[in-house]
Formats: sequence, structure tokens, C-alpha cells
Amino acid sequence: MPDMTDNSPGNSRTPVTVLGLGPMGQALAAAFLAAGHPTTVWNRTPGKAAGLTGAVVAASAAEAVAASPLVVVCVIDYDATDAILDSAADELTGRTVVNLTADTPERARRTAEWAAAHGIDYLDGAIMTPTVTIGGPDAVFLYSGPRSLYDDHSPTLAALGGTATHLGEDPGRAAAHDVALLGIFWTAMTGIMHAFALAKAENIAAADLAGFARGISDLLSPSLDALAANVDSGNHPGTFSNVTSAAASLEHIIHASERNGLDAAVLKAAHALARQAIEDGHGGDDYSRLADTLRTHATR
Ligand code: NDP
Repeated sequence: MPDMTDNSPGNSRTPVTVLGLGPMGQALAAAFLAAGHPTTVWNRTPGKAAGLTGAVVAASAAEAVAASPLVVVCVIDYDATDAILDSAADELTGRTVVNLTADTPERARRTAEWAAAHGIDYLDGAIMTPTVTIGGPDAVFLYSGPRSLYDDHSPTLAALGGTATHLGEDPGRAAAHDVALLGIFWTAMTGIMHAFALAKAENIAAADLAGFARGISDLLSPSLDALAANVDSGNHPGTFSNVTSAAASLEHIIHASERNGLDAAVLKAAHALARQAIEDGHGGDDYSRLADTLRTHATR
């Protein structure tokens, strides 16, 4: 077990600064401490470092940055990130920022440009797993930006645990994966909440539905590779099911929801997309066609 209070000069591990001590920032700082890295932390609102035994708490972002060659940022969004980095721009010059805040690919690219203009090495990243995984084998991190920078710092970032993947030099690539993947998560979560609301309206306890719901959710994961192959090839053979059939199924859910007075907006959006594919002449295709339908009707 490493010495969690080892901020002494004899500690050869790379000093790390963590800016942002929300639940995720705290988990990241705790993992660095557990791996024996001298760790300096800062948070806009004081008092968030109470559980981080051994961390040095800085009075400002600039003071925190000055303590380490590697600065990890994890706050709510890039408006916050940019404001924090801007406040410490002078101290950041010549250091490396690893930004593990979630936001859009475009914001990631903009922050990378800002960093380059200020002589700051910049790696963007996304965390795909919850706080409890950080430091353990189940954590998943995605990175993008200069490969050499990733190689230089991956031994230190290894303290965060799990698996890390460098996705390419485009700094927006990690965030692009993040938004696409979180789209799956949040639409699925919303679908689950709609299912529970509809079940309750039909006098079915959510707990009674949950076992069957698990069966439905288990259907999704094994179908991902085949769906992706269809989307990449542009071929959507509707051999086992098709968009017309899916649209009819969606209608049943919408009718049942509205009969119970429930807002069916989420399902209506899915139904409208299926209807568009049918109007385009693709009713006989697999549901994977909808990815093409979205792109065909994209406004830019
Ligand atoms: P939040 O997303 O709620 O972020 C809270 C942090 O952002 C706090 O440090 C807060 O400071 C700071 N902050 C908010 N607004 C500002 C501002 N204007 N200026 C400076 N700091 C600001 O909590 P998390 O820690 O959970 O998430 C951090 C990032 O990690 C997010 O991008 C999130 O999407 C991502 N993430 C989180 C996961 C999780 O399980 N929690 C999982 C995967 C990714 P203050 O205390 O002063 O308000």
C-alpha cells in the first residue's frame, strides 16, 4: 500500500494537480493519492477536499497548477474548464493539461486551440464509467490529442485504473465518442423511465417489470455489431424485422401511453423517424436504416 501522505521530495512519482472536486474530480484525486502521486487539488467552492487525505489544497487554480507538471481538469462543462484554465494561463505555459470534463467535440477542439496558443500541452479525455470505478479495473477512459503526449503521461494516468484508449490526434475525437455513447445511455435511460411510468399506470410495479426489462435490455448488446456493420456498409436487409413493423410497434406504445395520460414525446420522436424512413421508401429495411435516415435529412 503506497503512503497516501507522501508529498515529500523523496517521492519519485509525478506530481499531479486536479482542478475540480465534484464527485468525479474527488474520485480522480483519490486514485492519484492511492497510487502515491503527490497530489494538489483546487475547487471553486472550498471544503470539497475533506476526504482526500494527503492532498495539498491550493487557494487558487493558479497556485494548484504551479505545483505539478501534469494538470487534470474535471468540472461540469467547458465553460467552466475554459474559465479555470484562463485564470491560470500564465502558470500553465509549459505544462500538460489533461481535460477529463465532458462536453462537445467542437468545444474540445476549441480548448485545444486555446492551449496551443498559450504554449500548453493539451490532451482531451472522456470518462465512460461512474465514480466508483475510478482507480479500479472497471474504469474506462478515452483520450485524444497528440500521441506523444499520451505516451509521455499514460504511466501517470494509469493510476486512474481500468482501460485507457488513445483514439487519435484530433482532440475532439474522445468527446465525439463520448456524446455518441452517452446518447445511447440517456435515450435508453429515458426509455426505461417511460416503461416504468407506463407499467405503473397499468398497475404493474416497476419491480415486477424489472426482470422482464432486463431481458429486453440484454437483447440490445449482442445486436450492436450487426447494426454497426449495416450502418457502415449502407445495407440494411430487413430479413427478420423491418421499419414498418417497428413503426406499428411504436404506435401501440404511444397509444397505450396517451390513453394513460402519459407524455409520449420520446416515443413519438422515434416514430417520426421511422415514418420518415418509410416515406423515403425504406419500410422494408432493418431498423439500422434509421442511422442513414438521420444523416440523409441532416440540415448541415
Ligand atoms: P459535475 O458535473 O456536477 O461537476 C462539478 C464540478 O464542476 C465541481 O467541481 C464544481 O465546482 C465545478 N464547476 C461547476 N461550474 C463551475 C464554474 N462555473 N467554474 C468552476 N467550476 C465549476 O460533477 P462530476 O464531478 O460528477 O462531473 C465532472 C465531469 O465528469 C462532468 O463533465 C461529468 O460529465 C463527467 N463524468 C462524471 C461521471 C460521474 O459518474 N459523476 C461519469 C463520467 C463522466 P463547485 O463545487 O464550486 O460547484
